[in-house]
Amino acid sequence: MNRPRHPVYWDPEIETLPRERLRALQEQRLRRTLAAAARSPFYRRLFEEAGVAVEAIRGLEDLGRLPLTTKDHLRQGYPFGFLAVSREEAVRLHSSSGTTGRATVVLHSARDLEAWAERMARCMYMTGARSSDVFQNMTGYGMFTGGLGFHYGSERLGMLTVPAGPGNSRRQVQFMQDFGTTVIHAIPSYAFRLLAVLEEMGIDPRRDLDLKTAYLGAEPYSEETRRRVERELGVRVFNSYGLSEMAGPGVAFECPEQNGMHIWEDAFLVEVLDPKTLTPVAEGEEGELVLTTLDREAMPLIRYRTRDLTALLPGPCPCGRTHRRIDRIKGRSDDMFIVKGVNVFPIQVETLLMGMPEVGRDYRIVLDREGDLDVMTVEVEVRREMFQGDVKSLKALREKILAALKSEILFTPRVQLVEPGSLPRTEGKAVRVLDRRRGS
Ligand code: ADP
Ligand code: ZN
Repeated sequence: MNRPRHPVYWDPEIETLPRERLRALQEQRLRRTLAAAARSPFYRRLFEEAGVAVEAIRGLEDLGRLPLTTKDHLRQGYPFGFLAVSREEAVRLHSSSGTTGRATVVLHSARDLEAWAERMARCMYMTGARSSDVFQNMTGYGMFTGGLGFHYGSERLGMLTVPAGPGNSRRQVQFMQDFGTTVIHAIPSYAFRLLAVLEEMGIDPRRDLDLKTAYLGAEPYSEETRRRVERELGVRVFNSYGLSEMAGPGVAFECPEQNGMHIWEDAFLVEVLDPKTLTPVAEGEEGELVLTTLDREAMPLIRYRTRDLTALLPGPCPCGRTHRRIDRIKGRSDDMFIVKGVNVFPIQVETLLMGMPEVGRDYRIVLDREGDLDVMTVEVEVRREMFQGDVKSLKALREKILAALKSEILFTPRVQLVEPGSLPRTEGKAVRVLDRRRGS
């Protein structure tokens, strides 16, 4: 595409649409979406059961009358129950792993895929990526939506796109050197692995590579992790949020302000609800993100419960985009575990650990039961130098971690310091918590 681009915005009109006009657009698209959804076997029944006539839903103020959609519903509608177009019009299927039950699928029409690629291009352009860039996509292709989602967005933007896929880190580094990669996409745990490999290879990315931008997403990570990767890799890191039910990446993305992710409200209707009462929480307060697709044809989803916890950030963003921002995702409601009656999210532990320079790049939380007692052990990889120094400094670090954890989670866990690379690696998203309490 050769039309001249706006220097800052990929889609200047939509990205800076005044809020009243954005609302009007949403209402118009909501009505269209509801009419489409009512054509799918699953929603026809769900709306009927809920006693909702979709024609009666006129504006956003009526939203609360619509039923919520859950992952369980998606399972019940497996595989084609949510299809709102004919089977012939669906051109792509993505399926979830199904580790927590029966698999789910998400279906796309050709137009849906177009819209997704456009949205991804919009996200990356927002961070300064241009057609002169070389983009290396280091996430899985296939059912995982991070691969194909970023891939088509990058091509749409016009970057030279290297579909490297995950793993094989030495080859990744070689690609970066040979092709002059400037932009990468990875999951946070893989970015850490890459750093370890660069260290082994004696390559200083700041000096020896052309990297300037990294997109990290698909799993929760802290601001401390972002800063670390930025410092060690010599890039700016932008947070990328999405879920396969909403196509994949491209739901919300950070702008150059790096202060919350713009959630694209021309494509998604955003609610943040109290997970217990299912009523909206106030702006700035944490709740469960609930999304309605606004421009999806093959498989519209209405008020989908993502289970992801976040908050809407108040106030306009200095970048000029009018779409609201969500805070860094704290995790899914089911990431939370309870030890000694205390609710803990892995991200709380991560935030503390990654803020300590002596700590390495990986950690794991192991939960056991001894007699009637819950025992939480935090295994922490520490920098190699720490094991070469004297025992006193290791002891001091352990004390420091214990004290920090105690003040965060209000009880004292066990802490075990281990050498870099000794914790088990997982393919794909990191498994942070090993719960052995229910005797497996
Ligand atoms: P799965 O459900 O099998 O993990 P997805 O790839 O659809 O498959 O994962 C989407 C989920 O990943 C989101 O619902 C969210 O929990 C998590 N996620 C995605 N991006 C981020 C991010 N930037 N920060 C935190 N969590 C994220
Ligand atoms: Zn912004």
